[in-house]
Amino acid sequence: MQTLFEDLKQELKIKNINLSYQRLKVLEYLTQNQCHPTVDQIYTDLQKDISTLSKTTVYNTLKILTEVGLVSIIAIEDNESRYDIMTENHGHFKCESCGKIFDFNIDLDSLKFRDLNDFKINDKNVYFKGICPKCLSNINEKE
Ligand SMILES: [Zn+2]
Ligand SMILES: [Zn+2]
Repeated sequence: MQTLFEDLKQELKIKNINLSYQRLKVLEYLTQNQCHPTVDQIYTDLQKDISTLSKTTVYNTLKILTEVGLVSIIAIEDNESRYDIMTENHGHFKCESCGKIFDFNIDLDSLKFRDLNDFKINDKNVYFKGICPKCLSNINEKE
């Protein structure tokens, strides 16, 4: 079975995009860590293996991957961008207690926006905030 990483590499080839070794490592990292990492997280983790890696390379790679639609940016908070390899439509739930971001399935195409009939939509995002089940049970135990 082909891995997600192999699939994405194939997709880049079709789009005529050649990624250097370091850039491929960023892509590979995202397929293996589907936890919505920030640029800092990606950089810190990868630098352990690739000491010559620069943060600019990480930024530039993410920019390319976002432009071709393989990676999406989650801007659930104004001051931090997180990156997500999953390209199919899904919503994000951020736990305000532990800070984790969870994926949930949502059929964005079935939502109707009558007021936007004359608009061209380029990006649709669904962000929810609240408390995850794990944190909820922690809170309940303390009370
Ligand atoms: Zn939580
Ligand atoms: Zn996600």
